Amino acid sequence: MSVIPTPFKSGNQLSPQSMLIWRLAQASVWLIGAAILFALFFIPSAGLLLFWNILIPVAPALFVVMVGVWRNVCPLATTNLLPRHLGLSKRKKLSAEQLGVLNLIGVIVLYTIVPLRHAVFNRNGLATGILILSMVLAGTIMGLFFEWKSAWCSGLCPVHPVEKLYGGNVLLSLPNAHCDQCQNCVIPCPDSTPNITPASAKKTFAQQLSGLLIIGGLPGFIWGWFHVPDQTTSTVNGLIGAYEMPLLGFAVSFILYAVLSNILDPKQERRLIAIFAASGVSFYYWFRIPALFGFGSFADDGLLIDLRSVLPAWSMTAVTIATTLFFFYWLVIRKQNHRSWVIRPAFADKQKLTA
Ligand code: SF4
Repeated sequence: MSVIPTPFKSGNQLSPQSMLIWRLAQASVWLIGAAILFALFFIPSAGLLLFWNILIPVAPALFVVMVGVWRNVCPLATTNLLPRHLGLSKRKKLSAEQLGVLNLIGVIVLYTIVPLRHAVFNRNGLATGILILSMVLAGTIMGLFFEWKSAWCSGLCPVHPVEKLYGGNVLLSLPNAHCDQCQNCVIPCPDSTPNITPASAKKTFAQQLSGLLIIGGLPGFIWGWFHVPDQTTSTVNGLIGAYEMPLLGFAVSFILYAVLSNILDPKQERRLIAIFAASGVSFYYWFRIPALFGFGSFADDGLLIDLRSVLPAWSMTAVTIATTLFFFYWLVIRKQNHRSWVIRPAFADKQKLTA
């Protein structure tokens, strides 16, 4: 793991200046998050644009290159870790079994919520706002009881499985701007383990299953998701339709992964995971970038700005081929660099933890 010396006092603890910079960054991103949430409720067209068509499209690439930035400044994390920062958390520890179950529920929630974007969330600011507020509430309640990031950020958060799949070979390790000392509350800690993958935790059945579901299923699920248009009216048939293609894609890529991981040498597991991760993020941008600029398959679904009168259609093909090549290079071809998302702070009680 690389250690960047400048931001630290000693024992990987942030210097006061670095701490101030990270706190300012957290406060700024939190305010942006609060403004988006406000807009979702009161100016839904702006809120939907900011959330689904700007913030969310940036996230996968950020997870691939430097997910530690997001782990340090995510406004939901800033909120749910506030009780811990203020000394109000009961700081309970979760067992490996409990963590595995939380991870599994997080994966299931992800696969359940994302198709609902077509049926509800993409066009409904109020529903999206309520969804985000529910996650803030759940995370904050968990933060009141459990140690640091264990229960939400590395447990139940439905975005976390995607962070773990895409963040397997990050550019560099940032300082940890939340945990002041490491309490070993998650083993393996996704933030502090170099080249973490969703298959890194295999101690319990739930951990193994959640790893398999996200690695094997996500690429096909993403492919299928982009073959469903946003729905303007809510009907039962529309709701079923929102799940059909994503689940079909999920099933195909899951079976493919299961077969390949069984026939390939176990030494190739990491490479196979990297190929599936690169496929997932490449599929995402293959469809998402054209849609952002008016070249999508379904009218103005996911439109950020219509550039059809400015750019030729082939420019989208060129950009998406470039992003695909980049992700395969970054995740599959590039050497594993043994870097974690953030640098583990000094252990709170090294002797006790070792014992
Ligand atoms: S760095 Fe340590 S205290 Fe922080 S989340 Fe990871 S294991 Fe828990």
